[in-house]
Amino acid sequence: MGHAKVEDALKLVEGGMTVADAAKVVGVTRSAVYQARAGRAGREGRACTECGALLPDTAKAGTKTCSGKCRVARSRRLAALKPEPVPVLTGLAAEVERIRAMRRT
Ligand SMILES: [Zn+2]
Repeated sequence: MGHAKVEDALKLVEGGMTVADAAKVVGVTRSAVYQARAGRAGREGRACTECGALLPDTAKAGTKTCSGKCRVARSRRLAALKPEPVPVLTGLAAEVERIRAMRRT
């Protein structure tokens, strides 16, 4: 039965909902949805903890996110589990994050 709920969540995600929202609506954990997405992709890849994208095979063992952007989002989420406005990166920092995101995806 839990499995069916995860399937429902996957459908919501495919329809454009974020994994976090879909998990909340259906009543499963986010990690369950991420794992289901990873499994559906047909291999035992690990999924990004923030957006659910599969990590590349070359990702280090401790890597949990697909990009610099998601890594920042993850550390921010873990640091403060309440929603906060995302600070706007400016200048060089923003450029570095953009390049990192491009290289890792
Ligand atoms: Zn990600």
